[in-house]
Amino acid sequence: MAQSFDVVVIGGGPGGYVSAIRCAQLGLSVACIEERVHKGKPALGGTCLNVGCIPSKALLDSSWKYHEAKTSFAAHGISVKDVGIDVPAMITRKDEVVKQLTGGIASLFTANKVTWLKGHGKLLAGKQVEFTAADGGATEVIEAQHVILAAGSAPVKIPVAVVDNETIVDSTGALEFSAVPKRLGVIGAGVIGLELGSVWARLGAEVVVLEAVEAFLPMVDQQIAKDAAKILAKQGLDIRLGCRVTGTEVKKGKVTVTYSGKDGEKSESFDKLIVAVGRAPVTQNLMSNDCGVTLDERRFIAVNNWCQTVVPGVYAIGDLVRGPALAHKAMEEGVMVAERIHGEQAQVNYDAIPGVIYTHPEIAWVGLTEEQAKARGEPYKTGVVPFAANGRALASAESHGMVKFVADEKTDRMLGMHVIGPQASELVHQGLIALEFGATMEDLQLMCFGHPTLSETVHEAALATDYRAIHIAQRKRAK
Ligand code: FAD
Ligand code: NAD
Repeated sequence: MAQSFDVVVIGGGPGGYVSAIRCAQLGLSVACIEERVHKGKPALGGTCLNVGCIPSKALLDSSWKYHEAKTSFAAHGISVKDVGIDVPAMITRKDEVVKQLTGGIASLFTANKVTWLKGHGKLLAGKQVEFTAADGGATEVIEAQHVILAAGSAPVKIPVAVVDNETIVDSTGALEFSAVPKRLGVIGAGVIGLELGSVWARLGAEVVVLEAVEAFLPMVDQQIAKDAAKILAKQGLDIRLGCRVTGTEVKKGKVTVTYSGKDGEKSESFDKLIVAVGRAPVTQNLMSNDCGVTLDERRFIAVNNWCQTVVPGVYAIGDLVRGPALAHKAMEEGVMVAERIHGEQAQVNYDAIPGVIYTHPEIAWVGLTEEQAKARGEPYKTGVVPFAANGRALASAESHGMVKFVADEKTDRMLGMHVIGPQASELVHQGLIALEFGATMEDLQLMCFGHPTLSETVHEAALATDYRAIHIAQRKRAK
């Protein structure tokens, strides 16, 4: 007899594993089909845990520690001789972090009685799922009351720079270099290009980032993006905007990249090249032609605000669908879908999803940028305070960057918060909570923030929206 479950989830990344666990918490019988094999072993956790968020942050952390030891300790009166790098040891530490976390998901599945089916899943018509076991067992058809598609995304491939996993790599290959490349090229100044470019630049690589469009970080508030461009350039990242790669040639372990920009056609030679030009949803071999699920104009699975596809009982979440390709967005969609299957009215507030770029300093934001506030056509105000005016930031030699609020001029309600600076990834969550609670600038102004903390700059930026900041000189008189 065919196996049957209340819910079958295809994909065990942040979207899939979270939705499976939430379904199980709600008393539903659930199977999660995941085909990934990482370093020779079946692995849950998807892109994020295996080859994305977590390994990249592990390397960002290690490389920053090296960079600090080399460049900043002396200013603190600490002398260290012969600071060296052992890249294989760094990679091993990263792999151990990944192993610990992905193993943790497997344990959570066991604890919650989620059945992990190791192999490939394919949605058929009538909410049936074809399962092909990775160990070569027979293909079986599973019956499901509800199906959640959570197959995620994969790196976009471009014909002008074909990944060979030796000289030309994608983000996964860039997490596995066995030595620091002398010259590293990166195609794409998006989030991956900047994060992975930073890792190898800190370890000593000469990094050139080629970006096709003229705008730098168009999704980020442009005052913050301008500051980021300056700071990253000082760190040695050579970011060339308006440069479209037109070809690559690999010879004797080196790659020559040709690109066209303002000054015509040019070329550069690198020891390694990372292709980081975006990610595309994994829809190939995920669904039969007659299953009824449709794609949208950008080839994501078409869903409404509740992640329902056009087929009743079939949902799609995470990187497979519209919206930012972020792990936390995938997780929230997973929870929402599980709860809706259980009959609740859950939803995701798509206007309050934070974004973070883990460069140093970090860049983080939530809500509207100043450009988006301006485009609304309603009066708005901003408050900007640099970390240079913050005692804690100066004490820890982390005084680059700023906090910026964007607020509605008439209602005083917060519209957006933008940070470039120390711990931006953590500080931005104060803005997230304020946004979700509909806080006004006055609400934040009236709170007593601890001293000396980085958070005081959040308080000061809220005060600055009404020209009341104490630790910077503001031109207009206090109200
Ligand atoms: P995925 O994580 O891609 O998981 C989908 C899973 O489904 C995969 O494991 C795949 O093997 C499996 N699968 C696919 N098809 C099938 C099938 N037919 N049968 C069985 N299994 C299948 N996001 C952040 O929020 N913060 C970050 O710091 C961050 N850093 C990143 C760094 C890098 C280098 C990369 C590449 C991405 C990063 N992301 C980050 C993005 C984040 O990884 C994704 O947004 C997130 O993983 C999406 O989750 P998902 O569950 O939708 O898909
Ligand atoms: P991205 O969309 O952020 O950036 C890709 C960049 O490549 C764009 O700026 C684009 O203009 C440029 N580009 C495209 N084709 C080009 C060409 N031929 N020549 C030169 N430049 C070209 O994509 P990504 O950096 O690959 O990241 C993919 C997704 O992964 C992101 O959208 C993000 O959601 C997610 N991610 C998130 C984090 C994080 O949250 N910290 C980290 C890494 C990845």
